[in-house]
Amino acid sequence: MENEKTTPTYHQAWKMNLRAWKIWWGLCPGVFFSTLASSITEAITPYVTIFFSARIINELAGNRRPEELTKWVILTLSCTAICALLQGIFSRWANYEKASASRLDSQIYMKKMLALDYADIDRQAVFDLYSQIRQNDQWTGWGIYKTLYFFEELVMAVVQIAGGVSLSVSLFLLKVPQNSSLALINHPLFAVGIMGLMLLIAAVSPICVNQGNQYWVRYASKAKLGNRIFGFYGQMPMDKKRAWDIRMYQQQENVCDVYFSQTELFTPNSAIGRNAKGPMGLWNALSRCVSAILTGVVYAFVCLKAWAGAFGVGSVTQYVGAITQLFQGLSRLLQVLGMMRANGEFLQDNFAFLDIPNRMYQGSLTTEKRSDRNYEVEFRDVSFRYPDTDQWALRHVNIKFRVGSRLAVVGMNGSGKTTFIKLLCRLYDPTEGEILLNGINIRKYRYDEYIRIFSVVFQDFKLLSLPLGENVAGAARYDRDRVKQCLEDAGFGQRLEALPHGLDTYLHKDLKDEGVDISGGEAQKIAIARALYKDAPFIILDEPTAALDPIAEAEIYSRFNDIVTDKTAIYISHRLSSCKFCDEIAVFHEGEIVQMGTHEELAADTSGKYYELWNAQAQYYTE
Ligand code: ADP
Repeated sequence: MENEKTTPTYHQAWKMNLRAWKIWWGLCPGVFFSTLASSITEAITPYVTIFFSARIINELAGNRRPEELTKWVILTLSCTAICALLQGIFSRWANYEKASASRLDSQIYMKKMLALDYADIDRQAVFDLYSQIRQNDQWTGWGIYKTLYFFEELVMAVVQIAGGVSLSVSLFLLKVPQNSSLALINHPLFAVGIMGLMLLIAAVSPICVNQGNQYWVRYASKAKLGNRIFGFYGQMPMDKKRAWDIRMYQQQENVCDVYFSQTELFTPNSAIGRNAKGPMGLWNALSRCVSAILTGVVYAFVCLKAWAGAFGVGSVTQYVGAITQLFQGLSRLLQVLGMMRANGEFLQDNFAFLDIPNRMYQGSLTTEKRSDRNYEVEFRDVSFRYPDTDQWALRHVNIKFRVGSRLAVVGMNGSGKTTFIKLLCRLYDPTEGEILLNGINIRKYRYDEYIRIFSVVFQDFKLLSLPLGENVAGAARYDRDRVKQCLEDAGFGQRLEALPHGLDTYLHKDLKDEGVDISGGEAQKIAIARALYKDAPFIILDEPTAALDPIAEAEIYSRFNDIVTDKTAIYISHRLSSCKFCDEIAVFHEGEIVQMGTHEELAADTSGKYYELWNAQAQYYTE
């Protein structure tokens, strides 16, 4: 999806920009009002000075009336003071709004990430796209946030142009006396010619700046790998979980000298660095040169007319000032339009990500609330391939869960056990076949309803840096007694008593200094308690005892029936000895269920996979 990038036209870039503004309008409309107010006052302020000082100079060079002079001086001072005051207030307000907006910027992606289908989160292309967006933003500042800067610049440019036109239009209308030797200047073609020349020069300056800016676009995608290496290795020393490994294997040199120095993205020797020194700098210098020429042309024209007697000396300052501002506004306008086009290239990434559709079909049926927990789930000839792969992870799986039974799912690594559970929880839809709940395809149920019937302890579960009780309940308000009971059932009772603030103890230290660090085994018990608290009709345990010591493991097994009660339990393990207490065992091999039966039945089949696995492990596990 990120390879389909083409340079957008001005029209396309403008449309994308409008879309970005619409997003900001929804998130924080205040940023537009404040920017409008601050940009207008900022753009008008120079004109106030230009206008009033022209009046004062004209009076000084003309009639020199004290009362007129006093009036203009007081007006100049008070208007300038008011402008400065307003500018101060509005720019503070605008800064505040922009700071709020920059915080909201990450929320745009966070919300999208949370709403994505799980299958898309798992895709490398999606991850690549997101990391490109982050890197565009962090490296060059281009992307959605940049569009706020364009709004500010556009408002400034428009006000500057309008102010400049209104203060300089009389320059072209006032005529030099007919008897003057310079009466030729009065010819309309002369005015048109001089305006054309000024516009031409004014247009060249931003073109030069935009040429320089193109280098950012050119190197954006090339910088992706470098930026990732920089991000990863730059952050690595700060990750305390890695500190032990780095020291143990003396990876410091490897990390710093080899990989880190390979990323010359941010060094003066990088391609962009060399260009900044060379062509980018030259384009900028050229732009300034051209601006200086423009000022020269303006001075020449205005002074010529004043010399020929078209207007007084005070007006010279007004016209020179106003036209300079006017062309600054024009230049600003063209520059911002060019930048908007360059940014369009980056916005394509932003919108490609935000437009990833939710492809997973959303049904509308609600699941029955059954106190007898009589939910029947069946896999009917289910096959599955992960997106963008051509290997079958599951093939022709047929299985029906008996309500209230305990099913063990065993098999070697990569045999499809976790995939089977992911499909059961509808993180993915089957490529072929269907999964039924009480006879109806699970796609037809509302997803949030369907997922409610499962409690899962995934192997790589994640706990939050929040109080223990909130972790177990998954909510800020919860039934404290029930949480305690679940923790006790999961074997965490004794540890709970020792915790300084009981259920209110923070896990980890990310949010609270007095948070407690917990071992892998303790975390697993909390994760089991969380699954119990959900009290769903199905409980799925994916290697639930992997991080437990043998005593804790034995404790969980001995309580397995208490823990599971009348729920339907699915227990995934490659430790066969721990599956014996299950009613039925499904043996997975290369994505297929190759055997089903009780431990005794399967162990008796000496030609079966189970027998082979059992014997391979028997040397480690004495019964
Ligand atoms: P198990 O849980 O039995 O170890 P898995 O269900 O994790 O096995 O994996 C089954 C097969 O699917 C393996 O060949 C694995 O490489 C592949 N697989 C697992 N996850 C993904 C994924 N996200 N994308 C592509 N292939 C995957």
